[in-house]
Amino acid sequence: MKQIIVIGGGAAGMMAAITAAKAGAEVMLLERQPRVGRKLLATGNGRCNITNKYTKSSNYHGNKPNFVNYALEKFCVDDTVDFFSSIGLVVKFEPSGRAYPYTDQAGSVVDVLRFEMERLGIKVKCDCTVRSMTRKKDFVLDTTEGKLTASAVIVAAGGAASAKLGGTSLGYEILGAFGHEKTKLFASLVQLKTDTAIIRALKGIKTDASVKIVSKRGKVIAESVGEVLFTEYGISGPAIFEVSRNAVGCTAVLDLMQEYSLSTLEQMLTQRKNARPNTTLEEYLTGMLNKRIGQCALKYAGLALSRNAGTLNRDEVERVARSIKSFELAVTGNTGLENAQVTAGGILTEDFDPSTMESKLVKGLYAVGEVLDIDGDCGGYNLQWAWSSGHLAGHLLAKKG
Ligand SMILES: Cc1cc2nc3c(=O)[nH]c(=O)nc-3n(C[C@H](O)[C@H](O)[C@H](O)COP(=O)(O)OP(=O)(O)OC[C@H]3O[C@@H](n4cnc5c(N)ncnc54)[C@H](O)[C@@H]3O)c2cc1C
Repeated sequence: MKQIIVIGGGAAGMMAAITAAKAGAEVMLLERQPRVGRKLLATGNGRCNITNKYTKSSNYHGNKPNFVNYALEKFCVDDTVDFFSSIGLVVKFEPSGRAYPYTDQAGSVVDVLRFEMERLGIKVKCDCTVRSMTRKKDFVLDTTEGKLTASAVIVAAGGAASAKLGGTSLGYEILGAFGHEKTKLFASLVQLKTDTAIIRALKGIKTDASVKIVSKRGKVIAESVGEVLFTEYGISGPAIFEVSRNAVGCTAVLDLMQEYSLSTLEQMLTQRKNARPNTTLEEYLTGMLNKRIGQCALKYAGLALSRNAGTLNRDEVERVARSIKSFELAVTGNTGLENAQVTAGGILTEDFDPSTMESKLVKGLYAVGEVLDIDGDCGGYNLQWAWSSGHLAGHLLAKKG
């Protein structure tokens, strides 16, 4: 019987371990934290967005994003849902395509995976960190619990993002010792730092907006619609996470009333000033936009809030409409890997076989999940990659016998 060690008890590692054990291998899973699935518990705001009905290869990034194709085809969204149903998890889809456990509790996902590992007799060692690994005939793992050996190893150690939830560079180091190089790491699905002078008064306010990230050359490189949260350092919230990859150095353009065209907005603003000409600009947009956001937009348009609405000329009304439809903030940075949901960059995928996840440099060595140079968009795509890659490696490795 094949003896396999899986390094990492996150999404990809648990899926790989379960699949390998189901296919007949003897599996040991090593997790450096006191429990498996710690990061999973925090996913989807505690609800765990396990996949997305509309998953396609264009949702993935990295030097070779097509690397995901085979794994996603072999273990697709439907397979993921069937797998979770088979281990007792009821899955629901939201109209956006995002899938969650019916319980809305990420803990349910971790629990069913834990129970399945137990049922299959997988040896799970928590509080066990793999410090390094070498190879003689078998792989020899130097762990905090002593030396362990295995004929094959699946590295599912995740990425460096979100260290407080278990993110670490250990996976890169373990694979690096076998000649695997990594690309530059950077934060994705992360809060953005922007000019704060104009938005300082908006700290803590949430609003729905459409967001475009515009490069220095004026090209729209990402867009999304959803909730934006103003913070002391800039902007956050789901709509910002979605466009955060590569946003540094660009401009975030917020449309604060995306349902209305510029000309409709101009008409509304004109009617508004004509109906109540003696209202000061401080209250001009009250009832139309969040009060503080409205005041901020007027300041952004360069207008003194002490003026009366009736004094606005046509150009000024147009300027107000434009500041609501195109509220621009220069993106000066992001809050870093520490606060990111996902690591962009990672171990070079070209040194792995996409149809098995096995290293092309070292037979019997596999890597799955976020440790590789693959990162997905916001919306369940990162977990789908973890499930698909973990399944592929676990299944084929065990079958190899
Ligand atoms: C706050 C937050 C919310 C998120 N929400 C979503 C979401 O809703 N949907 C989605 O698709 N994605 C989400 N993501 C991203 C997603 O969680 C990750 O992409 C995914 O968990 C990666 O799976 P993985 O198994 O590769 O790595 P991980 O889940 O990070 O698991 C790796 C495991 O390996 C262990 N480990 C590392 N090195 C060693 C070692 N040397 N020895 C032993 N153990 C080791 C770590 O402790 C960890 O438990 C979110 C991420 C964060 C941080």
